[in-house]
Amino acid sequence: MRIAVIGTGYVGLVTGACLAEFGMFVTCVDIDEKKIERLKRGEIPIYEPGLDDIVAKNVKEGRLTFTTNTAEAVKNNLVVFIAVGTPSSDDGSADLRYVDQAARDIAQNLNGYKVIVNKSTVPVGTGQRVKNIIRSIAGEKVRFDVVSNPEFLREGAAVNDFLRPDRIVIGAESEEAIAIMKDVYSAHYLNEAPFVITNIETAEMIKYASNAFLALKVTFINEVANLCEYVGADVHKVAKAMGMDGRIGPKFLHPGPGYGGSCFPKDTRALSYIARSNGYTFQIVDTVIKVNEEQKLRMVDKILKLMNIEKKDGALKGLRFAILGLAFKPNTDDMRESPSITIVNELLNMGAEVNAFDPEAMENAKEFFGDRICYCKGEYEAVKDTDCLVIVTEWNQFRKLDMEKIKSLMRRANLADLRNIYEPSKMKALGFNYTSVGRL
Ligand code: NAD
Repeated sequence: MRIAVIGTGYVGLVTGACLAEFGMFVTCVDIDEKKIERLKRGEIPIYEPGLDDIVAKNVKEGRLTFTTNTAEAVKNNLVVFIAVGTPSSDDGSADLRYVDQAARDIAQNLNGYKVIVNKSTVPVGTGQRVKNIIRSIAGEKVRFDVVSNPEFLREGAAVNDFLRPDRIVIGAESEEAIAIMKDVYSAHYLNEAPFVITNIETAEMIKYASNAFLALKVTFINEVANLCEYVGADVHKVAKAMGMDGRIGPKFLHPGPGYGGSCFPKDTRALSYIARSNGYTFQIVDTVIKVNEEQKLRMVDKILKLMNIEKKDGALKGLRFAILGLAFKPNTDDMRESPSITIVNELLNMGAEVNAFDPEAMENAKEFFGDRICYCKGEYEAVKDTDCLVIVTEWNQFRKLDMEKIKSLMRRANLADLRNIYEPSKMKALGFNYTSVGRL
């Protein structure tokens, strides 16, 4: 089985490397020459645990190669995955320019039957759109099938998620394409991973519905946490007991500063847009989007309340904050729509000075904050002479800090634990003025 993957980002690179691990011959393509150069040198352009080993092994064994030459990659392979970005447009819709370009690139190089697999998260109807683009360029005679095969991996656990998926969704219109896709995923098929085989539109909808539901679950527990703060309840106990109900399940019930990342924000906006453009208002998703934006700002209000400061211009002049964690979640360097962006910008806007540390996301953070914040080498350097420590991302290494040392290094012992990783009673006993999300 020979496979090309167009787009070598978080999804494309993991897909390519893991399919090579399953014994396929995979060519990963990207238009970003620097990215491909780095990959050819054996460097992994993103931080994703376990990815370096699997890439190195499959390159060495000759099953994984990298190129900027889309034409050759399309010509030489039977299955062509599209794994390019689908960012938000200003109106919330998914920007399909990269998908369209990939479709044009494929169309110009069709030299026989191909299965073109959309792995990018795309609005319902995009499979047909890709088909139309290819038809209009390649003509009526060329044989090809378009398949929707949405990806459900989580950054930070992407390799494991790809190798051991909860389910594989295949949206296709021909038996031939379905048979080839089963062959691509034969390792999963033999391991009895559940397959959902459906039409293209249903497969496209499954991805958005799944992401919107997860965003809803996070947002729901965030609102429960907010209410807990008013009524004197402990959200951790509430979430634990809720999660024991098999109908609810324990996952995604961790309160925090709001969801971020490259998927939930843009995919909820895109689903809302798909609904609107079909004459339907998806009220619950619209509310999730609004509440999540408010949750990020609510964290800033929480910090001000902790420090007994009124919100106004210049309110934080002369105060220095330590931010631990910038990535939108642990184990990734991805900064896209991270809650840290809103929180840090709000603090800066009120005149604060900011020290920050993240184990992997500092380079990417520079794109968002430039030289407006101070990038530190570690946790203890970051907290030095600060007036408040804000934990934004729950990297494991932040869970067991020497809090006595932290306190002694700080100018004032204010601690806003936005991921609830410390025990409130212990922090208070150590002399911290402490706040978290939804706990007593
Ligand atoms: P990314 O931005 O990390 O990578 C996209 C890559 O595509 C970039 O390297 C870019 O240079 C390349 N590219 C763009 N146009 C190209 C072209 N014409 N030819 C070759 N390469 C091209 O994006 P990502 O995070 O990997 O996401 C890709 C898609 O997968 C998106 O639709 C996203 O919603 C979806 N998805 C992402 C995740 C995730 O956790 N990141 C999970 C599931 C699904």
